[in-house]
Amino acid sequence: MDARKKRILVTGGAGFIGSHLCEQLLAEGNEVICLDNFFTGAKQKVVHLLSNPYFELVRHDVTMPFYIEVDEIYNLACPASPVHYQFNAIKTIKTSVMGSINMLGLAKRVKAKILQASTSEVYGDPELHPQPESYWGNVNPIGVRSCYDEGKRCAESLFVNYHQQNQVVIKIARIFNTYGPKMEPDDGRVVSNFIVQALQNKDITIFGDGLQSRSFQYVDDLVDGLRRLMQTPDDFLGPVNIGNPHEFTMLELAEKIIALTGSRSKITYLPLPEDDPIQRQPDISLAKEKLNGWEPKVQLEEGLTKTIAYFDELLKTT
Ligand code: NAD
Ligand code: UDP
Ligand code: UDP
Repeated sequence: MDARKKRILVTGGAGFIGSHLCEQLLAEGNEVICLDNFFTGAKQKVVHLLSNPYFELVRHDVTMPFYIEVDEIYNLACPASPVHYQFNAIKTIKTSVMGSINMLGLAKRVKAKILQASTSEVYGDPELHPQPESYWGNVNPIGVRSCYDEGKRCAESLFVNYHQQNQVVIKIARIFNTYGPKMEPDDGRVVSNFIVQALQNKDITIFGDGLQSRSFQYVDDLVDGLRRLMQTPDDFLGPVNIGNPHEFTMLELAEKIIALTGSRSKITYLPLPEDDPIQRQPDISLAKEKLNGWEPKVQLEEGLTKTIAYFDELLKTT
């Protein structure tokens, strides 16, 4: 085998972010094993990679043990949209907790480096703005979002403890809201919902008054950040925020998408879901310092334009 070629496992590799990551890792000349149970992911997202002899697709659930020899693991398996992660809350917790234990056990056995896709949700409904990594968060442990938030918090704890007790080389990325091509049209997250509604001239569904904010990152910037994080020295574990600090309200997002699509959609207001965070913005000073010159390059208008083009094509062909 080529000495530079690494064998890399991507769990959740047939999902939105995972499929972009698999593409990038293959393009860099690595061998990629994509593991997915296809709960929210789809074979369709990686089907174009199947002809590559260095790509393998495995149908498997991370809550079950998995034996393989690899150099690196990106642990992305977990539904990310509130609609999907609340569909079977216990399964979501098992995926984050048992999935992390299995992947950490694997990393320990084969001495692989392992990266956890954590989330800005570990900050809950933050009382500190923007959020630095040192902030411990404000999470409702028994609320509707807790299966996701607390599962991810427990996963971070597992990662740190496997590092301390078993010397596993770990990296924790706290990912902020990410969007881009290959999101599912019925994924339920705000960017895909608004774009699909706008393209179909249907009502744009704003939850609450639309004044809650998020900071949206284009998927290419995230993949670049994850790659750089994996390549940091072994003594840098994170957690590190990876996101785009430009913050927008949901009303501003809706107006931008209507303008970019030239849609006739009207805005409609629906109740705000329980425990929906009011504001969220990453402090990315640590990422800029540690991730070898990383910073987000694609701003909202450019990223939305590419994502709109993707959905426009998809809706025409389905
Ligand atoms: P996604 O739902 O598109 O992808 C998740 C993938 O994991 C899917 O392919 C799904 O089938 C797979 N999966 C779920 N449970 C599994 C299990 N038990 N075993 C094997 N595979 C399983 O979501 P995404 O946006 O691509 O998110 C990927 C990761 O990044 C997730 O861990 C998510 O929590 C994290 N993240 C995403 C965002 C975001 O804005 N997209 C923000 C923060 C964190
Ligand atoms: N595991 C796995 N693949 C491996 C090694 C371990 O899936 O290659 C799983 C195994 O099922 C175990 C878990 O990872 O339950 C945690 O492994 P660890 O070695 O930490 O603990 P133990 O084996 O003592 O439970
Ligand atoms: N949201 C909305 N309309 C939708 C979907 C979501 O107004 O059709 C809101 C949601 O209430 C939240 C924000 O958009 O305030 C971001 O939601 P998303 O599910 O994309 O991400 P998260 O809440 O997990 O950050």
